[in-house]
Amino acid sequence: MGAEPDVATLRATVRGAVLEPGDEGFDEARGTYNLVVDQRPALIVVPADAQDVVTVIRYASHRAMRVVPQRTGHNAEPLGDLAGAVLLRTDAMREVRIDAERRRALVGAGAKWEDVVPSASELGLAALHGSTPDVSVVGYTLGGGLGWYARALGLACNSVTGIQVATADGVLRWVDPDVEPELFWALRGGGGTFGVVTAIEFRLYPVTEVYAGVLFFPWERSAEVLRAWEAWTRTVPDEMTSVGRIMQFPPFPEIPEPMRGKAFVLVEGVYLGDEETGAQLMEPLRRLGPLLDTFAMVPPAGIAELHMDPPQPLPYQSDSMVLTDVTQADIDRFVDAIGPGSGSPLVSVEIRHLGGELDRVRRGSGALSRMPGSYILFGVGIAPDPAGVQTVRQWLATMKESLRDQAGGLYLNFTEKAVDPAEIFPVDVYERLRAVRASVDPNGLIRANHEIPAARD
Ligand SMILES: Cc1cc2nc3c(=O)[nH]c(=O)nc-3n(C[C@H](O)[C@H](O)[C@H](O)COP(=O)(O)OP(=O)(O)OC[C@H]3O[C@@H](n4cnc5c(N)ncnc54)[C@H](O)[C@@H]3O)c2cc1C
Repeated sequence: MGAEPDVATLRATVRGAVLEPGDEGFDEARGTYNLVVDQRPALIVVPADAQDVVTVIRYASHRAMRVVPQRTGHNAEPLGDLAGAVLLRTDAMREVRIDAERRRALVGAGAKWEDVVPSASELGLAALHGSTPDVSVVGYTLGGGLGWYARALGLACNSVTGIQVATADGVLRWVDPDVEPELFWALRGGGGTFGVVTAIEFRLYPVTEVYAGVLFFPWERSAEVLRAWEAWTRTVPDEMTSVGRIMQFPPFPEIPEPMRGKAFVLVEGVYLGDEETGAQLMEPLRRLGPLLDTFAMVPPAGIAELHMDPPQPLPYQSDSMVLTDVTQADIDRFVDAIGPGSGSPLVSVEIRHLGGELDRVRRGSGALSRMPGSYILFGVGIAPDPAGVQTVRQWLATMKESLRDQAGGLYLNFTEKAVDPAEIFPVDVYERLRAVRASVDPNGLIRANHEIPAARD
């Protein structure tokens, strides 16, 4: 315990890269999607395969170091100080296997949605990905996975059929509904606390085309459009998943000219159904006269970038909360607080419509069996320096304050700052997760962004 890590032995044992501070590639490997985060682990390993992961776990365990699995660092901020830890970057484990007949995908820990969605789409299949192709399938799914088909098909974690995971005891396990069901349950929505996932298998759905797009309206019409959207969400079937959003596009050269440096209020939507019905459903919002209307039938791959999330790393701050409901008066308060004329610098504030399948608890579902609330709020602003961080945080607080009456809890994946993990789960779920942690990692070898502490006797 506490002995100087013998990095040379580790290097000689694993197939992947082992990087120490000062090594070429170390700084690149410690980088994350959020440039506000400056993580400085003692060691970085980029495992080539599951066996490398097991070797790293045994090595770290022997030397009382903590193991921090990470892919993109999209949700790295809550981790805090990584001094003395081994950062395990899964970037090289990008294998994707699609079994079209069984409608299943088996993907490595490093696979991003961009590695899965286009190939599945070519086979007439859709996966339950979210708003950006750039996050890892594993990180997204362990935290729940709220995507474009969510109101019809539920959370991604509840379409998982099996997981390969290396646990803190250095054992590589396959868990599924029949094998170690309790660990399988915890991994599906409980986050990355319970081991290093090396591969994940999940269901794909037969979808050749969806009716999807964005309506862009002038920013000044934010209250009117979001009010109309809120009323409209009460009328749509579960097959329609949508977002009401205010966007102030930054003046970045990579943003297409019609949007660059301009502000809009938007309605984004994906309808799992035919064009005629989709068009009928959109009619009440179309009648408002959008500046731009991109709704059309597209293959599943066509919605991967519908939400226009930036592909390149940025310095940013975000905040979020689940909303029990949203009323017309709430929309007014929200728009007054962060809409036109408020002075808000937030690049994007969005309200996603929940409900439908997200609200139904199915037998055999994981730790996040349902999304609480009827809507979820997420806001983000660019924070290029410490003063910018403070400014954006204040505006995010103003955003949340405007909807305080509807505060309905936190969603793990959208929680990008350190919180008490007990706030993320209902009490009974949290206690059950703590018991699973105690059984698989009582000494806390694995470090997750929203780590569940082991239950104590
Ligand atoms: C632009 C953007 C858009 C997003 N859109 C959505 C969305 O539509 N829906 C949604 O639900 N979420 C969304 N998210 C949130 C995203 O799903 C989470 O940030 C998720 O944790 C990202 O996973 P990652 O592995 O890429 O990130 P990382 O920061 O690399 O990992 C996050 C955490 O996941 C765990 N983890 C990752 N890999 C492993 C592994 N192999 N084994 C064990 N634990 C692991 C760890 O605890 C890690 O700290 C979005 C985030 C961003 C930045």
